[in-house]
This record gives sequence, structure tokens and C-alpha cells, in this order.
Amino acid sequence: MPHLARRVTAGVSAASGLAVAAALVATPVPAQPAAQAAPAPSTTSERPTVKDPTAVGKGGAISTVDPEASAAGLKVLKAGGNAVDAAVAAAATLGVTEPYSAGIGGGGYFVYYNAKSGKVRTLDGRETAPMKMPQDAFIDDATGKPYTFTPDLVTSGASVGTPGTLATWDKALGNWGTLSLGDALAPATKVARRGFKVDETFRQQTLDNEERFAAFKDTKKLFLPQGDAPKIGSIFRNPELADTYDLIAQRGTKAFYRGTLARLMSEVVRKPRTSKNTDLPVPAGWLTARDLRDYKVRSQRAAKTSYRGHDVYGMAPSSSGGTTVGEALNILERYDLSAMTPEQALHHYLEASALAYADRGKYLGDPAFVDVPTKRLLDDKFAAERACSLNPTKAATKPVPAGDVTSYDGVCTAASSAKGTTDADTENISTTNLTVADQWGNVVEYTLTIEQTGGSGMVVPGHGFLLNNELTDFSTVYDAADPNRIQPGKRPRSSMSPTIVLKDGKAFLALGSPGGSTIITTVLQMLVNRIDLGMTIEEAIAAPRATQRNSANVTAEPAFIATYGPALTALGHTLVPAGDAFTSAAEIGAATAIELGPRNRMTAVAEPSRRGKGSAKVVDAR
Ligand code: GLU
Repeated sequence: MPHLARRVTAGVSAASGLAVAAALVATPVPAQPAAQAAPAPSTTSERPTVKDPTAVGKGGAISTVDPEASAAGLKVLKAGGNAVDAAVAAAATLGVTEPYSAGIGGGGYFVYYNAKSGKVRTLDGRETAPMKMPQDAFIDDATGKPYTFTPDLVTSGASVGTPGTLATWDKALGNWGTLSLGDALAPATKVARRGFKVDETFRQQTLDNEERFAAFKDTKKLFLPQGDAPKIGSIFRNPELADTYDLIAQRGTKAFYRGTLARLMSEVVRKPRTSKNTDLPVPAGWLTARDLRDYKVRSQRAAKTSYRGHDVYGMAPSSSGGTTVGEALNILERYDLSAMTPEQALHHYLEASALAYADRGKYLGDPAFVDVPTKRLLDDKFAAERACSLNPTKAATKPVPAGDVTSYDGVCTAASSAKGTTDADTENISTTNLTVADQWGNVVEYTLTIEQTGGSGMVVPGHGFLLNNELTDFSTVYDAADPNRIQPGKRPRSSMSPTIVLKDGKAFLALGSPGGSTIITTVLQMLVNRIDLGMTIEEAIAAPRATQRNSANVTAEPAFIATYGPALTALGHTLVPAGDAFTSAAEIGAATAIELGPRNRMTAVAEPSRRGKGSAKVVDAR
């Protein structure tokens, strides 16, 4: 439903909301946001470009990869909006300034901690397979053989799922926000219209996608004006996206999920508007206006585990993030990592990751379609049994086999001779993440994506945004026993792991990262760094990363290999430098985090160098 006026949080009537708001004016103690309608954020003409990866203070905090997005969120917080309002404002701005990583053409997972109730709630805004998507969608009719993953599938209509991002914003605001959707979009609309300064990351990401973008008339026009990627330092404007946001502000989500724009998205997916001279095959997809009309965000229980006195809340399936991070933590909790050398602790981290990944591959899919044993995967007894295969002094041969969730007692028996399988990794590295806390102590952790950098490569004509290629997160080869097989209406398994950690019932830490299937290990490693290895949150985010996803090699950043390579190699690990097929960056993730200390002191942290540095801000820097 559209939200054309400012609103109050669900469960509080407008009248009582206003009454409470009025009463609170005279009260020096900050009000819970439930009853407050925040003033619409004012918009200014300055272009925030300075990236400061750490900010410490009070009254609210935000961390994103981008200074414009952080500034938009900060403005909302300063105007009295709550964390949800600011998260939506920042996410909408990321749709403008990070259009290759996120936007209304994509999906994501939203985790919210309500300081008043002490509860954590989540929204699953994952893209969904169209109802007409056949199980052999990734087989080329012409040849009877599977499409190549790159370039065929990634640059296609076939990989476009029904977007969930706008519905997520609307639902989050409706449930917990104080701003209308239109007001929350206003700062982003302003940025889209006045333009933002192109930085190295934006130019490089455009160049990395040049062939794909040039394959579509509308994408070429928008992102390769004059046949080149926008120059560093130039101003990039997207008035068509500004108009789209305006339309949504006026008419609500139905301007997107119904009517002309819905029909247009469906047309583009079913009959991609390719340029005349492209050699890319661009298979057509199945999205219909009906899929869009029927899209629903899922409100669901978080995946929860406890870890050394903390309660760790993550995303339950359709994301594999919460269960895989949680299971690995449960395994690690059996060891005193803080008493170990960093190399020994990292060995345990890598081995626990591999074990949890084996189970992810076997059991994780969309719970609306397959039976996912979420509870059992997060059972300490199951972790105890999985830990039996962790040799503290020797890396196991990978892939390790999955555990049996149907029969475990936590007691170690003779090692099984079963062989494991490495889950084919088709998740690409892109996406974006943001963290917000407000003056009342409410916290949002939100990871959103259009799948790989540049999504499907297809811009919706006249509307300024890219469509996702999220359906590539389904297993590419159909197997009826695979929980992540293609099924119409299903959500492909994700790795997104927005995580909120409570201590004594209060928010202590919120963090998340992009990075495809490395998201899980990035979040896990940061938690271990912070909770076990004595690092500050700044150090925990900056520390070099490595990821073991149950495969023969550990992928690691060069600094990790330089520091820990010899000791870990001696323990039997094979380390190889990070880097994917699309970019040359030897980086893993691009995290954001906020730590909440005593007396509501907030430390907002973004990347100090990865992906061109992030931007952290606080309302009151004291
Ligand atoms: N498609 C990935 C997922 O849902 C996210 C893509 C990325 O982070 O690069 O887990």
C-alpha cells in the first residue's frame, strides 16, 4: 500500500500517536519513535564526498559505503526520524549512487532491533522466481545444453526475479517507521536530480560492465553516455530515476508493482531491448505483471543463536546467512579462541566455516518450498557433533561432508568415510550493506542487492534503474534433491547476513557485508575478531580477510596471506589470493557496522580502504 502521509508505527493509532508525540515535546527524555512523525528531511544542495570510515558519538549513527547515502540517513536522524526511516532514506540513495549494487530493481534482507521491546524482527525482501519460470530455465532451447553462466545467464532476462526492494522499504516504514515512503525517498530523489560526483569505484564498476551495458540500448544511454564510462570527478545525474521515485512518492508502491511500469518491466525481461551490434546472447525471461502484482515481503522470525553471552540474530532462510553464521559460531563456541594464537584461532574459524558450508549446501533453500531444518542446524548438540570433525592441529581434506540433521547426539564416534561435495558457487560479488542506530537505541542492519555488480545489465527504459540477475543464485543444474533447485515462485538461496548482536538484551553490535557467498565468512570473521580476538570494531572490520567455503582452497586477501599464510599452510590450508572474474580487486567484502557502548555511545564503522572506503557518521560527534 502507498503511504502518502506521515504515519505512526503499526499498533499505535494516529490519535494516540499524536497525543503521545505532543506530550513528549515537553519531556527532556527522548521519545520512543513509535508515536512520532518525523519532519520530512530537508534537502540541501551540497554534495557530500568526504568518506570517513569511523565516527564516534551519540544521538544516532549510520554507516554505508557511500557519503551521499550516509548523509541522507544522517539528515533523517537529525530531523528526528528513527533508524528505519534513515535506513530507507539511505538505501534509496544507494539506489542512486551505487546503482550497480542496489536499487528498486533488486531485493534484500532487513533486520530491525526495537529498543523498547528488546525484540529483533526481520523482513525477507528477496527476489522471487516468476511463476512461469520452468525448471529447465537455465538450459538453452537451441542446443539442449546449459547456458554458460557468464555471459549467457548473468546478462539475461532469464535471471531477473520479481524485485522486492521497494516493497521492503514500504513494509519497514509501515511496521516501524515514522516517515511516509514519499518523505523517505525525498533525499535520494534530490541526489538523483542534482547528481553526485563520480569516484574511481563508480567508473571502474562501469568499465568492468562495459560490454554488458553496451548490449542494451537503455543501459548504454544511461551509464555509457558518449560511449564511455563517466569520468572521475564528473557529475552523474539520473533524472529518470528521480522521476520514478517521484512517481512512487505520489502513488505509492502500486506505481511500481502494478500498471505501466510493471508491464514495462515484464516486457523488457521477456523481450530484452538489446543493441543492434551486441554479440551477447541475452536469453529472455519470464517476469509478468502478475508476478509483480503478487510480490510479498515476508515478515519472519530471525535465526538466533547465542555466542559467549551474546545473542546473535541473523536472517533465517531464504537466506543461508543466519543459519550458517550461527552454526559456525556454535562450533567455535566449543573452543577458547581467545587463549589461542591468532593462527590457531583462524584455523578453527576456517574449519568451522567449511563444516557449516557443507550443511548449507545440503539443507538450505526457500522454506516455502523445501523443508529447511533451521532449528536443528542451530542446535548446540548438532554443533557438538560437527565439531568432532574439527582437528585443532590439521586442516581437513575439503570438501568435508555435510552432517546428518536427522540423527545426532553430540557425541563423537569414529570418523565417517563419507565424501563431501563443494557447492557450485554462482554468487557474484556485489551488493551493499548499511547499518543505522537512532537516538532511542533502535538498530537496523540491511543488506540489499541486484546480485552481481550491474545486475542483469538491463535498465528499465525511461526509469533509470537496473533489473537484478538474482535468479542466478539458484543452482544452475536442476536436481530434484537439491533444496536450491529452480521452482516457480521460489526465492533463490542467499548468503546475505545482516546481523544484530545483543548483550544483556540490548543491542551491542550490528554488522553486515556484501560479497556473495563470502558474506557469511566476512560476518563470521568480524564477529570472531571482535568477540574473541580482542579487536576493537574498527580493527575487526579492517583486519585482512579469508574465506573457506568448503572447497580445496582458502581464498584470502594478500595481507592475510602475508601475515598468516606460512602458519596456516603448515596446518594444511591452501591459500589463494582473492579476486573474481569481473573485477581485479583482491578484496573480500565491504562491511559496515555500529557498536553501541555504555550510555548510548555509538561507534559507526565502515571500510577504511576496501571498495574505495566507506562513510560513517554520527548525529552528535562527542
Ligand atoms: N546474490 C547474493 C546473495 O544473495 C548477493 C550478491 C553479492 O553480495 O554479491 O547472497
